[in-house]
Amino acid sequence: MRPEILFFTFAPVSSLPGVGPRIAKLIEKVAGSRLIDLYWHLPTQIVDRRFSPPVASAPDGVIATVTVTVDRHLPAPNRRLPYKVICNDDSGQLTLVFFHARPDYLQRVLPVGEKRVVSGRIQHYGDEIQITHPDHIGTAEEIDSLKSIEPVYPLTAGLTARPLQRAIGSALDEAPDLPEWQVAEFMSQQRWLCWRESLLAVHTPESAKDLEPNNPARERLAYDELLANQLALALVRESVRRGAGRAITGDGSLRRRTAEILPYTLTGAQRQALAEIYEDMASSDRMLRLLQGDVGSGKTIVAFLAMLNAVESGAQAALMAPTEILARQHCDVLTPMCEALGIRLALLTGREKGKAREASLAALASGETDILVGTHAIFQEGVTFKDLAFAVIDEQHRFGVHQRLALTAKAAGARANLLVMTATPIPRTLTMTAYGDMDVSRLDEKPPGRMPVDTRAMPIERLDEVVQAVSRAVSEGGRVYWVCPLVEESDVIDVAAVEDRYAYLAETFGDRVALLHGRMKGAQKDAEMNRFASGEISVLVATTVIEVGVDVPEATIMVVEHAERFGLAQLHQLRGRIGRGAQQSRCLLLYAAPLGDAARARIRIMRETDDGFRIAEEDLRLRGAGEVLGTRQSGLPDFRLADIGAHEELMLAARDDAKMILDKDPELMSDRGQALRVLLYLFERDAAVGYLRSG
Ligand code: ADP
Ligand code: MG
Repeated sequence: MRPEILFFTFAPVSSLPGVGPRIAKLIEKVAGSRLIDLYWHLPTQIVDRRFSPPVASAPDGVIATVTVTVDRHLPAPNRRLPYKVICNDDSGQLTLVFFHARPDYLQRVLPVGEKRVVSGRIQHYGDEIQITHPDHIGTAEEIDSLKSIEPVYPLTAGLTARPLQRAIGSALDEAPDLPEWQVAEFMSQQRWLCWRESLLAVHTPESAKDLEPNNPARERLAYDELLANQLALALVRESVRRGAGRAITGDGSLRRRTAEILPYTLTGAQRQALAEIYEDMASSDRMLRLLQGDVGSGKTIVAFLAMLNAVESGAQAALMAPTEILARQHCDVLTPMCEALGIRLALLTGREKGKAREASLAALASGETDILVGTHAIFQEGVTFKDLAFAVIDEQHRFGVHQRLALTAKAAGARANLLVMTATPIPRTLTMTAYGDMDVSRLDEKPPGRMPVDTRAMPIERLDEVVQAVSRAVSEGGRVYWVCPLVEESDVIDVAAVEDRYAYLAETFGDRVALLHGRMKGAQKDAEMNRFASGEISVLVATTVIEVGVDVPEATIMVVEHAERFGLAQLHQLRGRIGRGAQQSRCLLLYAAPLGDAARARIRIMRETDDGFRIAEEDLRLRGAGEVLGTRQSGLPDFRLADIGAHEELMLAARDDAKMILDKDPELMSDRGQALRVLLYLFERDAAVGYLRSG
């Protein structure tokens, strides 16, 4: 249960005075739907309104706040011309200009003969000094609040600065005093204020410097977030380790037969990782290991062999994928091997329903099923294993932090040993930010015989050439991914863009092109994916739903439209879909000119290297330069306040702090412990609170 003190903090934005449903919707789009989301919506710029010159000497182009007397209103002579209000101070005349004005409103806020304070950008037109659409109009008494430094917040279409500022202001009025979870000495050493004061401070910057990540108030909040994250991860890890472990040592029979069936031999890295995994499994301590391996490094077979170890010992194993498509693909790849081995594999996703689902659940509960493959549906209520000894979570970075914690807990509750796999080779120092102190195995060697992908960048104006190249490849039997980006920052897909591109390509490729996007039904997606894998279609126009794990070795061309909008990690993941067979593959990054510096750098790096670790490090460096793109994809948690580029030291400190806290007070029972529980709720890491023995 969320502590009462945070009750209002998580109330909907629409509960604030003056925030109606329309504004609430817009705010939700840019910040989120609750007060807390407004707290975390930090200003990115400031406007200095303190400059208050006499009108006659106000320079062109500056923001000024002036006190004037309203002389007369000049209503707009027609709809295209503006409404003007003539004012003056002792020095000269100021014309306020309004397009599409509402006269009654203007007469109310700017009554003739009265003094008013207006603030906005001064413009000189010939002899006339103007402000078009002043940002603020107030009475003379309001001058002090208007002559201020104003925070500027990120906005969205339809939302103007004022209502958002007002909403944030009223939300801040409700900000509670929270018990202090930071240590007093550390706070004074860092010159940090308490949570509430820090929050108020980040929303009232006094200079551009206050907007930087090293501003003490920003640091304090970032550290809070990092500490909540580290503490949650440490709690999960502790609870997993505390749970009774079990030693698993299969007799090797299934694994030997698998080695005979496999058309290749394992790489050294795969053998090394398996040795580490088998050792963990054999120990009576609970296993919690991260297997990191770039796309195409061959994690699936490693997971499969480890699962066989569990099956050999008479127990069950589970493999969980983040999407329907991936679960099915794992199922398709592993089923023939299981058949050859005489063991039973079942698939469970949200889509299995009715009788079939019941039968499947019964087989699982009776132990008839040896290996269960599925989406997160496999850890839902009503799914009971006879004896789950080993669970693998694939592409774990695709799950959100909350889901990640919950899934780990579910698997741990089942007393299973845990292997989590990720295709994001994040830098070593950051692994712990995303995963805490897990044991890590790395597949840093790719299976042999892969040709590097030839990567090129070109402006979208050369679309015709690209279509020709794709045509040639298709006529030679090649297969092509054509990726269009998500345009909205949320998961809302600009389906129209993909559909347009699909229609355009259909003119050339007819029924050899198909469409795949996240708004399609699961069955439909699988059907299209299968048609692509089987070669029935040659060109797959898709959003990034294809980005993880999907394996079609015949695919040799990857076209990425608007490559400038993708993060490095994402581009790397996408490119990893090709170059999986023996043929030369090509990646064409189409961009809309002009390219910004960061986008240019990303494309250059993609052309230079396919080393996932190097790409990850460059990604981090570029992000440190202020660009946050594809955080989700990078495998790093979505921090709202912490900046993974700028706050590395804080990250390390938070890890040590979390460790120390749990050494001293494993149940978070002390005063600080109680405050830390509030912190976990504040940053929505409260799934972790469930791992405390005392809840
Ligand atoms: P990922 O690590 O991205 O999940 P996969 O497990 O899907 O990679 O493997 C990618 C491809 O490499 C698959 O087609 C798989 O059969 C193949 N593969 C895996 N290990 C080897 C190996 N040692 N030698 C050759 N091919 C391999
Ligand atoms: Mg995979």
